[in-house]
Amino acid sequence: MPMLTVDGIETYYGNIKALKGISLTVDEGEIVTLIGSNGAGKSTTLRSISGLNPPRKGQIVFEGKDITTRPAQEIVTLGISQSPEGRHCFARMTVRENLDLGAYLRKDSKADISGDMDQIFDLFPRLKEREKQKAGTMSGGEQQMLAIGRAMMARPRLLLLDEPSMGIAPILVEKIYETVVEINKQGTTILLVEQNANYALGVSNRGYVLETGAVVLTDESSKLRTNPDVQKAYLGT
Ligand code: ATP
Repeated sequence: MPMLTVDGIETYYGNIKALKGISLTVDEGEIVTLIGSNGAGKSTTLRSISGLNPPRKGQIVFEGKDITTRPAQEIVTLGISQSPEGRHCFARMTVRENLDLGAYLRKDSKADISGDMDQIFDLFPRLKEREKQKAGTMSGGEQQMLAIGRAMMARPRLLLLDEPSMGIAPILVEKIYETVVEINKQGTTILLVEQNANYALGVSNRGYVLETGAVVLTDESSKLRTNPDVQKAYLGT
């Protein structure tokens, strides 16, 4: 059984139907990428899974549990956490305070939580250097690292990443993707959304191509990368 099964979900904003029956699966241990142009429904798919925009139709099952209509904070507790698009760090709080917030639903000991913070600092040494800096004064790439670190502080088994490369210098994008691979190697399954498909398909096992709220193609990432239609539409080649 897949770790996550999304089956025919339809999600609305008011009466605008943003998702028109999306189905996908993620197996434990995988990195799976959703690609697609502006407005295709990538973020909405992640927001449906994390409970921020529950679907009106269809079903979402995580580790055997139906989570379709559960509240977002319960979904975090069940093991899914999301690093949102556009970073959304708490600007006036320090790096450490932002990371602490990521753990606020956890009921385990302070020692476990602080051990995990050390691990995040190992993954992102730059966050360690800037531990006491206010998040709002950090660069876009650094805030992106912080957003991923904060999502990791919830100790997810499934991490949802929304456009980790958005608005970031290429050298930092590479760093962030190296870390995404490392996080996966350490045992976290990842569902990733990217407009910049090149990096994402480079690190993922499988991918889904979304257009106007529907899946139009799915394959192994290596095959998507060499598919002429995908290259033309999403890889800028
Ligand atoms: P992008 O890469 O531009 O973020 P996306 O593939 O993530 O695109 P979504 O953000 O999921 O696309 O948007 C899917 C559709 O839902 C779009 O038509 C968008 O205009 C619409 N939409 C998204 N958020 C809202 C909202 N808050 N209110 C109304 N419509 C929305």
